Amino acid sequence: MNYRHAFHAGNFADVIKHIILTRIICYMQNKEKGFRVLDTHAGTGLYDLSSDESHRSPEWKQGIQALMDADRSKELNALIKPYLDVIEGLNSSGTLKLYPGSPLLARKLLREQDRLTATELHPRDAIKLKAHFEGDHQVKAIELDGWQALVAHMPPKEKRGVILVDPPFEKPQEFTRMASGLFRAHKRFSTGTYALWYPIKDVAQIETFATQLYDTGIKKVLRIEFNIAKSTNPPSLHGTGMIVVNPPFTLIKELNFIFTELQPIFAPEGKGKFEIDWIYNEDEKN
Ligand code: SAM
Repeated sequence: MNYRHAFHAGNFADVIKHIILTRIICYMQNKEKGFRVLDTHAGTGLYDLSSDESHRSPEWKQGIQALMDADRSKELNALIKPYLDVIEGLNSSGTLKLYPGSPLLARKLLREQDRLTATELHPRDAIKLKAHFEGDHQVKAIELDGWQALVAHMPPKEKRGVILVDPPFEKPQEFTRMASGLFRAHKRFSTGTYALWYPIKDVAQIETFATQLYDTGIKKVLRIEFNIAKSTNPPSLHGTGMIVVNPPFTLIKELNFIFTELQPIFAPEGKGKFEIDWIYNEDEKN
């Protein structure tokens, strides 16, 4: 496990992922009944943008810093307000210094009746993660293999859930692992909303992944991709992807609006492109 998220925290891919997660959690809160968020690859929970890692790899400047500095429309601000509130709450001096990881973001969005389970395998990161939530009765932070948690923790006892799967993609077989992990978790909990993050580097590999997802037979699988540049050879990260199973019915419309506004912010040279399509939508019988 060489991957260190501190080098990437707050980059455009993190921001897009966290905005999608926020919109899903907000939608879940339209109903009074509580739900559980399971964050299988949680990271440490909080990132210091003045750390040595962030200094050496200042990706956050083209991500969260660009978003905060942008002249945003009122409509965009309204849609991403819960996310912006968390960022602003952590940086009350007005200078961007801290960026929340997915478990801390999710926690800050939860109501009293909602719960979070966050698992992280790297021992040092797991210690930091647990420290953030010590004594918090709404959160379980556990040093555990996220792939194991993805199946073993299903279904959540609340019977309503959002499951974020955000592995480091250090190994190419992580795509296959993701598709088979989803298949097994979905067998145990078919009504959950699953959000699976993936990097866009090698387009052929992503097409294979889409086929694997289609072959699971899961009936509502949405693919969301946001690119900031054209694909390159040799492949390098130029976009961010998210698969959402059982997405809120409002999500496509919201993201179409949000991404149209984010494109010039994250891809100012005009090479950005986004696409939201169904890998399988039972309702459309494709
Ligand atoms: N979800 C986090 C966020 O949005 O802030 C970022 C997670 S980062 C992309 C991936 C994390 O997974 C790293 O912290 C890494 O240590 C952890 N990790 C790697 N393999 C794991 C495994 N098998 N189970 C749980 N965590 C793992």
